[in-house]
Amino acid sequence: MNMLEVNDLSYSYPDGKPALRGVSMHAAEGECVGIVGPNGAGKSTLLLHLNGILPEDDSRHGKVVVCGDRITSANLHEVHRMVGLLFQDPDDQLFCPTVQEDVAFGPAQFGSPAGEIDRIVRESLAQVGLEGFERRSPHHLSGGEKQRVCLAGILACNPSILVLDEPTSDLDPRGRRELTRLIRGLPATRVIASHDLELVVDLCSRVYLLDGGEVVASGPAVEILSDEELMLAHGLEKPHSLQHRHPHP
Ligand code: ADP
Repeated sequence: MNMLEVNDLSYSYPDGKPALRGVSMHAAEGECVGIVGPNGAGKSTLLLHLNGILPEDDSRHGKVVVCGDRITSANLHEVHRMVGLLFQDPDDQLFCPTVQEDVAFGPAQFGSPAGEIDRIVRESLAQVGLEGFERRSPHHLSGGEKQRVCLAGILACNPSILVLDEPTSDLDPRGRRELTRLIRGLPATRVIASHDLELVVDLCSRVYLLDGGEVVASGPAVEILSDEELMLAHGLEKPHSLQHRHPHP
């Protein structure tokens, strides 16, 4: 079953500039799908549609379906519960005075019993390697720590679909390795947009290559990302780990 389906989605920002042009994609239950493409390709814009942050209005055509239901203004609360979105910039996501409150916000909003929330926060912070960070101020953390607090806040809501925008951009190599292991072990359906193509090869079975707001290629991650000509044509590079692979054996 497809947990997520995007059909012929086009979107223009208020300045009238088209950011997505007829994008279709899907993710099956439990699948990990990569979204790659150069800067400005439309990756973040696509991700913002996957949990209804960008609304259904005149600037948008096409549809986004989550667990069989089209996202509309009527089911946004349910969609936010099912789809956890990690923003590219952690500062867009963190707004409480303490890490505890930030991570607790989602589960409280989605009805976790009050007596469970401290435990959920503790476990979610442990999952991202931030045990004991509850009383810290999110705004005094490093970029990588902020990114992990945001992820803890999402994991605390136990979403069926996890949408991650550049999850490793602020992490050091150890943090990146740990996050890779964590993401790999999660049972949720996962969609990851990243310039970190090694991460994409490592985690994703399929990828969509976006450029100019369009899907210009899609298929098995190894096949698409090992196509050097295709990668270079769209401002990317063949990942080092695939240097000796050829796209069409
Ligand atoms: P990517 O994530 O692949 O770098 P984005 O989705 O951020 O691409 O951007 C797609 C296009 O939309 C770009 O041309 C970008 O300049 C434009 N864009 C992104 N955010 C906004 C915004 N808030 N207002 C106007 N244009 C935007």
